Amino acid sequence: MPPTITLADCRQMDQQDSLAAFRDRFVLPADRLNFDGNSLGSLPRQTIERLQTCTEEEWGNDLISSWSQNGWFEAPVRVGNKLAPLIGAREGEVIITDSVSVNIFKALCAAVSLQPDRHEILSESGNFPTDLYLMEGLAGLSRRLNRDRPLVNRVVDPETVIDTMSEKTAVLLLTQVHYKTAEVKDLVTITEKAHDLGVLVIWDLSHSVGSIPVDLEAAKADFAVGCGYKFLNGGPGAPAFLYVAHRHQANANPVLAGWMGHRDPFAFTDDYQPAADISRFRVGTPPILSLTALESGIDLMLETDIQTLRTKALALSRLFMELMEQQCASHGFQLVSPKEDARRGGHVSYFHEEGHGIYQAIKRRGIISDYRTPGVLRFGITPLYLRYADVYAAVEALREVMQNREWDREEYQVRASIT
Ligand SMILES: *Cc1c(COP(=O)(O)O)cnc(C)c1O
Repeated sequence: MPPTITLADCRQMDQQDSLAAFRDRFVLPADRLNFDGNSLGSLPRQTIERLQTCTEEEWGNDLISSWSQNGWFEAPVRVGNKLAPLIGAREGEVIITDSVSVNIFKALCAAVSLQPDRHEILSESGNFPTDLYLMEGLAGLSRRLNRDRPLVNRVVDPETVIDTMSEKTAVLLLTQVHYKTAEVKDLVTITEKAHDLGVLVIWDLSHSVGSIPVDLEAAKADFAVGCGYKFLNGGPGAPAFLYVAHRHQANANPVLAGWMGHRDPFAFTDDYQPAADISRFRVGTPPILSLTALESGIDLMLETDIQTLRTKALALSRLFMELMEQQCASHGFQLVSPKEDARRGGHVSYFHEEGHGIYQAIKRRGIISDYRTPGVLRFGITPLYLRYADVYAAVEALREVMQNREWDREEYQVRASIT
């Protein structure tokens, strides 16, 4: 039997935590703990001030001159360059723009256009829904545009993805950290296997960026997309990022050929000439307020380094799993995340038959988690603002909810429309 872990032990770990001071850099509700920072990261204090400056001074006073004077126009590329080291990208390979969904569509179109002799687009079942829907949407469009040679959308079992790739496959779209299980895919090996067959890969890094170290350059990655409002703490609906390797930029012609991606937007010409660099993946006018908030979140994260964050996140998630065994072993939870550190991303998930009621009941006790049907409770592990003692509190809440059958209320039987 391992020794019992107490709340005092957890407090001790907090005292020795080199990242502890970051907690005060966030606005955190006094009566609740955010174990859902993998879905909506908490608010960095400095973001309030940045937004105030951006609204009052830049928008309010400087008005349209802010596009040049306050760096608004270059912001998508400037902030992309700040984000680049977090994913092992080089200067000029990342742009902050649009949503993840829109960027997936843009990357799919770009990849397909680089592969004129291949007609299959491939992903795995259980991938994040938007990824699969966008593939279906693109394949549907291509059926209408080219009845003789449309794109074929293939979504196969995760175990068979690698073997399904062939000389027909144009592009493989995969998510590195699975949104339900937190299972981490081997980005380097899969990319290499795809390249051996001439397949381009788009990596969805929504649950990776700001959570686990990623090295796109070492992997010789082609395209990647990811989320600004999760681990990067960029705020609700923060714009996403798109990564395009330098070697693909000149040949990947944007399908969403908006004026902001033109070589010279203010020449207002009738014909479209894409910008020579990553800017060609801009579409329309960037959302400056959201981008400002995201830049602030990235700046805060860059005050530490991703390896240090990862080390603490793993310690927190190991503690979570150990405490679950210690306090909740008899309550029917099944761990759905990999136990092995290297294979687990930034959240810990459990299946429980009564998952939905439990999710609601711990929320009432101040533990914000989320619920993914069927039966999966997710706990986001965000080392910038979660303490070891918070993990203890979350597992205690679970134990009490189970012990007192607090999940068993009639009102919890109805699934909320947003979980
Ligand atoms: C959160 C998430 C998205 C979000 O897409 P949006 O278009 O920004 O809503 C996409 N893919 C994955 C894997 C995600 O986890």
